Formats: sequence, structure tokens, C-alpha cells
Amino acid sequence: MIQHLFKNPTLFRQAALIDGQWITETPHGHTELHNPATGEVLAKLPRCKEAETTRAVVAADKAFRMWRKTTAKHRSQVVHRWWELIVENKEDLATLITLEEGKPLSEARGEIDYAAGFVQWFAEEAKRVRGDVIPSPRETQRIVTLKQPIGVCAAITPWNFPAAMITRKAGPALAAGCTMVVKPASQTPLTALALGELAMQAGFPPGVFNVLTGNDTRAIGGVLTSHRLVRKVTFTGSTEVGKVLLEQSASSIKKCSMELGGNAPCIVFDDADIDIAVEGILVAKFRNTGQSCIAANRVMVQEGIYDALAARLTARVKQFKVGNGLEDGVQIGPMIDAGAVSKVEEHVQNAVAGGARVLTGGKRHALGGGFYEPTVLADVTVGMAVAVEETFGPVMPLVRFSTDDEAIIMANDTEFGLASYLFSKDAARIWRTAEAIESGMVGINTGMISNELAPFGGIKQSGLGREGSHYGIDEYLELKYLCWDGLQPAFG
Ligand code: NAP
Repeated sequence: MIQHLFKNPTLFRQAALIDGQWITETPHGHTELHNPATGEVLAKLPRCKEAETTRAVVAADKAFRMWRKTTAKHRSQVVHRWWELIVENKEDLATLITLEEGKPLSEARGEIDYAAGFVQWFAEEAKRVRGDVIPSPRETQRIVTLKQPIGVCAAITPWNFPAAMITRKAGPALAAGCTMVVKPASQTPLTALALGELAMQAGFPPGVFNVLTGNDTRAIGGVLTSHRLVRKVTFTGSTEVGKVLLEQSASSIKKCSMELGGNAPCIVFDDADIDIAVEGILVAKFRNTGQSCIAANRVMVQEGIYDALAARLTARVKQFKVGNGLEDGVQIGPMIDAGAVSKVEEHVQNAVAGGARVLTGGKRHALGGGFYEPTVLADVTVGMAVAVEETFGPVMPLVRFSTDDEAIIMANDTEFGLASYLFSKDAARIWRTAEAIESGMVGINTGMISNELAPFGGIKQSGLGREGSHYGIDEYLELKYLCWDGLQPAFG
């Protein structure tokens, strides 16, 4: 086992967290968790099913009745303590992420900074939740609004950012006075459990933050989307699964936030600063081995700079160090599993069969297992799978365009609308394109757009709602208004 890798071994938990108790056994046995870089068994987690999920929901509801009554100042302090503990344990948390998800340790550290940022931000925002007074149409009436926590929130999260996708939800939910049952991806529960341990140490009462384990996904999801005590479902993952969860949540009209898949266009105009574009595109494409919802999925380059940019990008991609994320200097880790590698392989083969040229990479890596060579494809056209679907891997397809209008039409020709990227020195051109592009977020001369201060989220089939920023806490609040009558106008 891997306890020896941690300074604080209490963070390595092989148990579900329900009502403040660590549950190491259920009647359904255990699932094994594997390191995607080595294949070794990392942990054995108890399998939760309907009964354990129901227990967690009931515990969260009981905790909600008390947690909602605490003052905003108190909740702010507890959430703030959670942030301090996450920061203090950054190295262990980053190691857990690399072990279970595969991303290089430097990126895992970056994810912990990002994840902690949401907790810190929403600790502060807890104190700023307030309603208002609306001028009434009658002299004797006053209209006052209150914002109140929704209740028990079910969070279902993906494997690609095992910490940040949880804190982006739990930070605002717990700060608002909600309680939460988290179902992390079955491939990355260890980070979620470590966050649970730190939440307990921070002083959240039992039942406020619960984490379910195992791979009985449909059983757990079925309860979370139908139980009458769950008032909100907050999901990050694929559009396909998001649709299923929305359907399941419909029968009990739960509030839903959906952070779904993307197919981000990255438009590089002829007048772009090439140095800035190269850095921005590389980070937008290859962070987390290309397994990011806002990864640049289609790099669209104007014809005047196409060949020069392709050469610059290819030279850099050839230099990437591929390997186990725990090793020094590794920039590209393994993909999450064999299915993910097969999808990338199919996309590349489909593109090559359609006339694309492999500038570098284009096949499984000699390291075997989940490793795929960082790849650049030229002469990609819009109908190819690599430009239509979310590839979710280390493959950069370069598409050629000539006019601005053509680029915008191509960029918007997708059911997704999460992120997009623009590279140009012409402010008017950027402004025009940013307004026309159908996405919730636009990176301009940068490939790094995520932080806790900005509202993250998509349009079209990329999602509903926003996470982070001062908008993020509203996803966990209900607006109520009080209409007071019988008040006499002020004397005199
Ligand atoms: P996924 O297959 O949709 O899974 C996401 C989560 O949903 C996992 O916890 C999964 O559990 C669970 N799940 C799957 N089927 C379910 C069901 N029937 N009922 C209840 N839960 C169910 O996505 P993924 O492969 O983990 O993540 C990659 C996807 O997430 C990509 O499409 C990416 O773009 C998207 N993503 C979006 C954002 C965003 O902010 N918009 C951020 C990150 C990722 P199991 O693990 O047990 O299957």
C-alpha cells in the first residue's frame, strides 16, 4: 500500500464518509482502485449502493436542519479553516491526485491551489449573501427578499480534476448553509476522501459533508436524483450522463447545475503574436494530457500563418517528457484508462484516413499502458471525428481557415459551448469574434482561463449554471420574498 508516501497518513482513507463515520465495510464488498501510470492497486474501497446512499442523504438532511441555522460568520470560519488545512496538506493531496488520476505532480499542485481557491473565496462570500428591499406598488406594502440555502445537495463529479471539481461545488454549498453528499468518480475517490477528512478536522458537523465510494454508479445516482430530501443535483461530467441525470431529476423537480462536455475552438488569426499563441495553445491543449473539458479541441489557424505555427507547435510538442507523473520533469502523464486511449487512437486513425497528416506522435507510446504520444495533426477538416467530438487526449488537430466569418461559422458548428480561445493583436477583431462565438467563456491571448474569481460554465449542451465567482453561491440559494402589508405611510 501507499501510506508511506504521505506526511499525513490520515489523508489516505479506504472508506466512505457517511454522517461523520468512516465506513470500511458494506454488504456489497469492495472495488479496487488502480494507478493509471503503473497499473498497481492503490486502494480497496467499500461499495456503496442504494442503502448507503439513502443513509448519507438522511444524515445530510438531519445536518442541514442544524447547519442552516448557524450564522454566516460561523460558516465562513469553518470553511476558511478547511481552506487552511487544504493548503497545509497541499503536497499530500497533490500526490494523491497524481497517484489516482495520473497528471504530473506539478499540475496536481496547481490543481490543489485552484481547488483551495474556491474554498477560500466562498468562505469570504458566505458573509456577503444578502437579499434586498424592492419598492412596492402600494403605499402600505414593503417587499423584502431573503436568500436561503437550498438544502441537501448531491454532487456527482468527474475524475479529471479530482479536487477542484468537488471544492467548486462544496465551497459555495457549505458556505451557503447547504449540506452535501458527494459521489466522486469511481476512478478518483481518494482525493475526495482526503478532502472529507480535512472537512472533519476543520469542524464541519457530522453529515454536512459525505462521500460515497465504489463503482455502483447507477444505484448511487438513482437515489441521489430521486430522493425527496435531495433538493439540488450539481454535476460535472459528460453531456451524455448530464442528460440522464437531468431526466432522472425531473420527476422530483430538483434544481440542477450541469458542467458538461466541450469542443473548444481555438482561433489563431494571422495577426496573432506567435510566441503568445504557441504558449497559450500548448497549455490549453495539453494540460492534464488533454483531458480537460476546456481543452482546445480544434486549433483553427488562419492560412497566412498556418505552416509557421504548425512548425513551431510541432517542435515544442516533440520535446514533451512523457511518463509517470511522480517523476521529475514529466509533462504528459498517462490517460485515465484503456478506453480513453482507444478513443484517441480511433480519432487519429479517422483523421489520417480522411487526409490529415501526422506532424508528430500519432500512436501509442512505447511506455505502453495508458500512455499515448503527444500528437499534432495537420490538414484536419471540420467533419473529422477529432474536430466534431471531444477527443479528451493529447492530440492537437490543426484546421485551416481563410476569413473571420468562416472561422466563426466553423467554431459555432457544434452542439457544445463551453470555452473558446482567440489569438490576435487586433482589439476590434477580438471583440467582434468574442461576441459572435457561442461559448460561456472566451480566453483572449491566453490558454489559462480558470480561477475562482471568474464564472465558469457553458451554454448550449455544455451546461446549465455557473461555478466560481460571486455568481457561484447563488446556485445553492433560494430566493424568497416577503410581501408585508398593513404598514401606514410615514407620518408627515
Ligand atoms: P462521466 O462519464 O460523465 O462521469 C462523471 C461522473 O458521473 C462520474 O462520477 C461518474 O461515475 C458519474 N456517472 C456516470 N454515469 C452515471 C449515472 N448513470 N448516474 C450517476 N452518475 C453517473 O465523465 P468523466 O469521464 O468522469 O469526465 C469527463 C467528462 O467531464 C468530459 O466530457 C469533460 O468535458 C467533462 N467535464 C466537464 C467540466 C466542466 O466544468 N464543464 C469539467 C470537467 C470535466 P463513475 O466514475 O462511477 O462512472
